[in-house]
Amino acid sequence: MCEVYDFPQKDDMDAMKTAISIFLDTRNGPTRNVMQGVLKFILDKYKIDQIKFVDYIIERGKQGGVRIIPRKMAHGRECPGCGEVIYKRPENGGKVVFLSILQGDDGDLATYGCGGCKCVFGKWEEIK
Ligand SMILES: [Zn+2]
Repeated sequence: MCEVYDFPQKDDMDAMKTAISIFLDTRNGPTRNVMQGVLKFILDKYKIDQIKFVDYIIERGKQGGVRIIPRKMAHGRECPGCGEVIYKRPENGGKVVFLSILQGDDGDLATYGCGGCKCVFGKWEEIK
């Protein structure tokens, strides 16, 4: 029997959220790779280009990768969820990690995730 899904099942949506959450907890290369693999696998499974979540949108990138588009924005240098400083280095206890970037004519929209409060948010990055 061939099963056809037209909308991602809850289990798959949960797997994507979990993969992001584990990366935000650990913030290392191997879990980043696992996260990207899970996100791409599920987009491929449903043959779709985008899945919308409450806090972010998972989207297929132009070069075969996956990007995470934020719905929440940081207006300063801190995580909008808990106030953790975005640019603090991990060796100094920084918990905010870079997730993905969307390049545009007006600037680049970087997506960050916070390991402290699990918030995913965006910030416009300007070249100075
Ligand atoms: Zn936070």
